Parts: sequence; structure tokens; C-alpha cells
Amino acid sequence: MIRRMSNKISITASVTKQTSEREDEPPDDPPDIGLSEGGDESPEKLFCENLVRIGSPEYSTQDYRKFFRKRFYPHVTHREWKDWKWQVRNRIRSLKSAARCFVLTQAEQRALTEYGLSLPFAVTPYYASLVHPSDPDHPLRRCVIPLPQEFLRSPGESEDPLSEDKQSTVSGIVHRYPDRVLFLATGFCATYCRYCTRSRMVGHSAIGHFGKSYLDGAIEYIEKNPGIRDVLVSGGDPLTLSDDILDWILSRLRRIRHVEIIRIGTKVPVVLPQRITASLARLLRKYHPLWMSIHFTHPDEITPEVAEACERLTDAGIPLGSQTVLLKGINDSVETMRSLVHGLLRIRVRPYYLYQCDPIIGSSHFRTTVTRGLEIISGLRGHTTGYAVPTYVVDAPGGGGKIPLLPDYVKARDGDDLVVVNYEGREFRYPGAFRE
Ligand code: SF4
Repeated sequence: MIRRMSNKISITASVTKQTSEREDEPPDDPPDIGLSEGGDESPEKLFCENLVRIGSPEYSTQDYRKFFRKRFYPHVTHREWKDWKWQVRNRIRSLKSAARCFVLTQAEQRALTEYGLSLPFAVTPYYASLVHPSDPDHPLRRCVIPLPQEFLRSPGESEDPLSEDKQSTVSGIVHRYPDRVLFLATGFCATYCRYCTRSRMVGHSAIGHFGKSYLDGAIEYIEKNPGIRDVLVSGGDPLTLSDDILDWILSRLRRIRHVEIIRIGTKVPVVLPQRITASLARLLRKYHPLWMSIHFTHPDEITPEVAEACERLTDAGIPLGSQTVLLKGINDSVETMRSLVHGLLRIRVRPYYLYQCDPIIGSSHFRTTVTRGLEIISGLRGHTTGYAVPTYVVDAPGGGGKIPLLPDYVKARDGDDLVVVNYEGREFRYPGAFRE
């Protein structure tokens, strides 16, 4: 294993030259306003001795969230808390601010001291209120608080496992499939996931929201290529862009005659549901057909705020799908995944993809086996609503695209008959399946 050091890529190299053009970039280091000094009581005492029994019948997650706000943001009004720009300005971004909200292990402290070498660190106050303050194994905590394992490189890992840089035709465009492109519209995210496939390009200090000439270049490429019928706007997280910039991007794309559909890939409804305002929903609905893929990880993310955000989007006519990365110890069980997909259907989000975790550098502690992934699909298919079952895929390292992985339901071919097994393992025969 070797130490992880470099984060340079070609897409961002051209962007860093445009720092003077960057628009709407959030401040580098938000002030700690609103965080209580905490009096004499140590967080450990408060969290461990008295208050937090998340999961126990008498103490709910909602109770803890109320406590969290009162304890750490006592002077922040309801209006401020619900303001997405306030949430972004006040993200937890340092060891000091993290240590005020969470009882950090030594390993977490060490990783937070060194994180500047690799993945960025930022958590919205909203998402921090969902994170267990003292349990380092809490699934949401593992998604956002770094560990030293991130700095290790294991065999087969790479900074750009999907070869997006090689398939980047101009800055900000990855053109892998003939009829569609990935448009990396920003390098900024509200909260950074520790297993991010694009950690090489998101959140680094020289890169925030990109400048106009970068966006122009990407859109001009789409204009000049009539074979592109589908544009996935992603990043970073495009919903961290201001309404004005989003409106400008989407209106430019919608004016291109050969672009049939626009898709947005985002985690904002999950980590920053305050961003899904009525005016954003009105803006997005102008650009139909527009679809949205939301990055959900765990059922604990489905809060009343997230349900409201998704309702606003679906009521604006936007079909919502979820994309989930399979993560060891976080969501790699049938029970957790069932709870997640059922929760998603309740808020009108269709589970779309379950990804085998990409071999990004420092992700070995997140990766689980394909056998486990197939067991999860077997545990869902037939046991629950078909809409609830995502397609399990491996995104082929080297840029081969998404390849579906399925449990073995086909047992044999017997003459012209197909022998198959159902979800209970019972065998059936379909006659004449191969007869013309
Ligand atoms: S929201 Fe997406 S792009 Fe941003 S850190 Fe998470 S996985 Fe990466």
C-alpha cells in the first residue's frame, strides 16, 4: 500500500486557470457563527452520559435533531436554518468545528488533520444533525467523516477508475456513449462523500463553481454534436449552483434541438433539502423533459425535510430515481437495503441503480464483495415490489460503462426449453424458449 498524495486531473487543470472567472463561489472558510461554546460540559459528557440513545424507544432521531440544533446553533433562527445558503456558508469543514459536534475517535482526528492531502471535508449542519455524535460506526457518519484508510492505496485502485479524463473531449464533458454526455457543471458539493468517484476533481480549494468560458465551451461542444440526445448535468453537485446560473445552463441546453432529455445528478435533496425551494422547482419545470437521479445511501437519510423536497420535485413533474453506492458496513445488508428502497418508494423515488463501489484510491474499507451485492438483489427481487429493485451494476474500470450484475436465475437450456429458478429457489421450465 502506498500513501495517497496527488489529486490532479486534466478536466480540472483547465478549470483552475479560470479562477478569476468563478461565479457564486461560497466562502472558503465559513465563520463558526451560531456554534455554541458549549459551557463546561464536554460533548462527550453530554452525548454519552445523558442524551443520546438513538434507536431506543424513548429517544428518537427527531429528538436528537432538536437537541443538536438547540445545543450547537442556539442563536440561529428557523428561517436561517431553512436557508440553503446559510447551510452552505456554515458547513462543518475543520477538525475544530467537527470536534464540537461529534466525539471524534483518534483515527478520525488524525484523518481530519491530514485530509487536506486527499478528499475535501465538508458537512452541512443539517446533515450533521443526522449523524450519530459518538458512534464511529454509524452509517451516515462513515459516509462523511474521514478515516486514515482513505490515505492508503490498494491494488487496482486509481484516481480516475472510470477513465473519465481519457473520455473527456473538452473541459467539463465526458463523452463515453455515442448518444449522451456527462456534463461536469461544477466541482462543488454541499457535503463530501468519503467514497466519491470524482474526489480527484471535487471540492479542492482552487476549484469551486466553474467560470462562464468553461461552461460555454462544454455547451458549445454539445451544440456541435448532433448525435447527443441526452445530457446528464452532474459534477460536483449542480444543484449547489445559483438559480440564475442553473437557469442559464438549462436554457442553453434546452435551445439545442437535438438534446431530447436533460438529466440532473445530485445529492442535494439528501444533504441540503433546503435547496429545493418552490422557486427552484418552478425553474426546473420550465425545461422538461427533465429527469433527476438522487444519490441516496441509507434509510436514515429519509427525513421529513427530504420527503418534502422530493414531493416538491415530483409535483413539478420531475421523475426521480435514486442511485446508491453499495458500501461495506453501511448499507450492505438485505434489511438495510429493503428499508431504503421501501422508504424511497414512499417518497416517490424509484430505486434506479445500485453501484458496486468504484475502486477509487483509499476506498478499500468501503468496498464489499460482488457476492454480497448479488445476495442483496436476490433478497429483494420477488420478495418486494418490482419498482423497489434497483439494477445492480459495476461501472467497468477503464471506461467500459455500466454492466448489470444479476443473480443466476437461468439454470440451464434443455433442448428448446429454458430451465429457470424463481425467487424461492424453485425450478420452472419455459417450453420452446429457443424455438424460432
Ligand atoms: S455528492 Fe456526488 S460528487 Fe459530491 S462528493 Fe458526494 S459522490 Fe462526490
